[in-house]
Amino acid sequence: MESFHYRDSRLYCEDVSVADLAARFGTPLYVYSEASILGTLESLQSAFVELDPLICYSVKANSNLGILKLMARHGSGFDVVSQGELYRVGLAGGEGSKTVFAGVGKTDEEIAAGLDAGVLMFNVESEAEMEAIARVAASRGRVAPIALRVNPDVDPKTHRYISTGKKQSKFGMDIERALRAGQAAAGMASLEMIGIHMHIGSQITTVEPYAGAVAKGVEVIRRLREMGHPIAWYNMGGGYGIAYKGKEARPVAEFASAIVPGVKAAGCRLAIEPGRVIAGNAGILVGRVVYTKQSGDKRFLIQDAAMNDLIRPALYESFHRIWPVDVPAGLPAPPEDYESEIAGTEPWDVVGPVCESGDFLAKDRSLPPLDRGDLIAVFSAGAYGMVMASNYNTRPRAAEVLVAGGEARLVRRRETYEDLVRQEVGI
Ligand SMILES: *Cc1c(COP(=O)(O)O)cnc(C)c1O
Repeated sequence: MESFHYRDSRLYCEDVSVADLAARFGTPLYVYSEASILGTLESLQSAFVELDPLICYSVKANSNLGILKLMARHGSGFDVVSQGELYRVGLAGGEGSKTVFAGVGKTDEEIAAGLDAGVLMFNVESEAEMEAIARVAASRGRVAPIALRVNPDVDPKTHRYISTGKKQSKFGMDIERALRAGQAAAGMASLEMIGIHMHIGSQITTVEPYAGAVAKGVEVIRRLREMGHPIAWYNMGGGYGIAYKGKEARPVAEFASAIVPGVKAAGCRLAIEPGRVIAGNAGILVGRVVYTKQSGDKRFLIQDAAMNDLIRPALYESFHRIWPVDVPAGLPAPPEDYESEIAGTEPWDVVGPVCESGDFLAKDRSLPPLDRGDLIAVFSAGAYGMVMASNYNTRPRAAEVLVAGGEARLVRRRETYEDLVRQEVGI
């Protein structure tokens, strides 16, 4: 969060004024900080240093090529869940040998693309997928490196939409099934099972689920090795939670201390797939107030960033800190604690112009008085923000800017109306 800070009551991203960026590039606008992204990458590298980890940035969290290039340049690998993401990694200069290919529905075409890109391993989510990988690899005279995605049946204690490690989940295989798949794989010449994979959920803020999962994985690895599989990698997925509200996140070092001992004992190399923890707090969404409106005792702040720009509040009931870009005199920088009353504020529903009651960024949020033309910053919007943006209501998607020190670079231009109709044919 330190990359976004107030100087003389004005919000800055590193050394660039956010109000200046809004004037230059318009709103709604995503603004990302390179220093924040690289700082988290370094903190992960050092937290897990004992295991010389391969960090596979989870592309789906924020797939802007500017960010992928930055990650590739600093030695990161990638976790992709589609051929489209693999294509982006290629464009960004990412290495296939540092890329893992996950996802429950890989098609033959996607598997072939993964083989051609020389991915480090495919995370295998089902027996049927394993057979498809074996078949596609055999038809191309190749041996596909795979890691079984094991579902350790732990409760990550996160929102049900982003919980993946429980038995009822569509992801991975439970331990018994994984072991049976291990047996089946032993007879498939076009597969080499070099690892196991786990990804138990997202926005996880306790370390116990990781410790429980690792303990189970170590036993699975022992059994798979007995079957003759050369298991060399333990891919522990991502899921590290970030601070949306204030202090709910754990430092990555705590996750590392829950994960490292088991993986070390198993004699494996560690891969991790962090997404949100890298991009989440490295980005904000900036909106400009269009109108204010009072209905009954409700105050609405209607501004130009909507659910089509950031769907997380509507989809997961998620909380994002919101504060003016220019703080009125006498008020603090954004509050550390939203539970207590903040003098000089009143409750607002922060909404967008989209025709849906679900189009809100916050409800009953304490904010200082704001007026037409004022700018607001929606914090912690760097992950699962722009990647989930849509053109609903024929709204052009926002521009994205990447800041490094005193420099701001446009890394995605705002869509035009022509862009929005370009694919429509036969009219
Ligand atoms: C989404 C996803 C991740 C990233 O999760 P974060 O919570 O953003 O760290 C990692 N691995 C897999 C397989 C995923 O699907």
